[in-house]
Amino acid sequence: MTLARRLNDIFDTGLVWFRRDLRSTDHAALYYALKHCERVWCVFVFDTTILQPLIDAWQARHPGERAPDRRIDFILESLRELGDALRAHGGGLVVLYGDPAEQVPKLAAELRVDAVFANHDYEPVALERDETVRVRLAQAGRRWLTFKDQVIFERDELLTGQHKPFTVFTPYRNAWLKQLDAFDLKPYPVETYAKHLAALPRKLDRQLPTLGQLGFAPSNLADLKLPAGMSGARHLLDDFLTRIDSYAERRDFPAAKGPSYLSVHLRFGTVSIRTLARLAYETSLQPDGQGAATWLSELIWRDFYFMILAHHPRLAKGASFKPEYEQLRWEQGPAADAAFAAWCDGRTGYPLVDAAMLQLNRTGYMHNRLRMVTASFLTKDLGVDWRRGERYFADRLNDFDFSANNGGWQWAASTGCDAQPYFRIFNPVTQSEKFDPDGRFIQRYLPQLTKLPAKWIHAPWLAGAERLAEFGVVLGGNYPEPIVDHAQARLRTLARFGK
Ligand code: FAD
Repeated sequence: MTLARRLNDIFDTGLVWFRRDLRSTDHAALYYALKHCERVWCVFVFDTTILQPLIDAWQARHPGERAPDRRIDFILESLRELGDALRAHGGGLVVLYGDPAEQVPKLAAELRVDAVFANHDYEPVALERDETVRVRLAQAGRRWLTFKDQVIFERDELLTGQHKPFTVFTPYRNAWLKQLDAFDLKPYPVETYAKHLAALPRKLDRQLPTLGQLGFAPSNLADLKLPAGMSGARHLLDDFLTRIDSYAERRDFPAAKGPSYLSVHLRFGTVSIRTLARLAYETSLQPDGQGAATWLSELIWRDFYFMILAHHPRLAKGASFKPEYEQLRWEQGPAADAAFAAWCDGRTGYPLVDAAMLQLNRTGYMHNRLRMVTASFLTKDLGVDWRRGERYFADRLNDFDFSANNGGWQWAASTGCDAQPYFRIFNPVTQSEKFDPDGRFIQRYLPQLTKLPAKWIHAPWLAGAERLAEFGVVLGGNYPEPIVDHAQARLRTLARFGK
């Protein structure tokens, strides 16, 4: 039984600490705080232990320049909406800047609250932070109450018949579907108790910090079709619901509008997982429900990777899920560094890989099929350690989430749980022919290849210099030669894993 179902105490005052759950509806911690406290305040902390490394990494590459980071823009926009929504119910949002392990207990003391409420986090660093907060609050006689909110089933709520954590997805999904009941999908009716939201004391009712005050420069978020906040999530969801029936057929084709593009909203909690899972589940039961059923499976993958991380915190220290692959000898030295740089910049000479990396660099999003293709290319074609790619994605993805990113990388590198077997190696040309047959996605990011007929666009080097020149393409000129021969790379990978 969860704490949520056991909580009987009534408090005079409470503080809700928002982290990756930037919404005012269907929010477990907010609901329980409002239900169990007479007066409730809300806080968000811009965490310097996360922000400073982002600033430092950018400045190491661009001395003296402020970092543009779409995620900071996204958070600021989302906080603006959250603050307004809380204010509309008589409350408000305190926004602080610093180390939350210090700031939250300090604010709790200033407001003299009896308890601090938050939703569960599953990353080891976050768990350590929460434990520090718990201890500091306890020393001052305050309660620390946390709730499941960002997943449907967490940690050990689903176990195998032998009471062990699952490591294979399909039986996990079957168990997930079997255990699901109406309560798991029910929204938390925050509105019922919203009258307990308390107005902020004047000195805490400050404007949101600006990007500049946080140490960042504006990003191109406003130019992308990526609306932030609860209203942005609703907009994307409404749009997706008009095409959810065709999700199963369209989701693998990056040129098509197939997926939901909701990942960044799930990352920052501007939409509740219960809302999405409920819609997916109910739609999946209808006659044309295959699209929704497939989408629900993707949401279950998300729960699966959170659960894997909760049981295997060593993953956060860079460990390979399968210990036998810890000793793999990845390529190292200047040639590997140059190959990695070409991959990062979209200069590998494999158009689908390059277009995908340019999509990531320019928008912070990458289509799921392309995440698999590029991750496979880095590890299996270039022989570069998956951890370098994982880090690169972590820096760039708007929706970066440690558990899904690590799961995806270890899947592609064949080192993970339920991973792609090492001998099943994606051919980047065949993937391109299959999933971008007309080259429409490629052309979106590589305009120099626009005139190339579909026949040559997946592997331009096969066309020969003369024909390429007819279409305005010069290999080694306006588009790179392929940096690796796939057939040879494949053999090297088989040898690397086979040893
Ligand atoms: P949709 O197809 O609409 O899927 C709906 C939601 O289901 C997603 O928003 C996401 O929350 C979840 N989901 C879908 N596929 C997966 C998956 N394979 N694993 C876990 N959850 C999934 N997803 C992230 O959210 N953050 C990451 O940092 C991340 N890194 C990845 C790295 C690699 C190498 C790979 C192969 C996959 C990664 N994914 C990651 C999973 C997946 O690619 C994205 O969730 C998806 O592309 C997001 O787009 P969408 O919201 O339009 O997806």
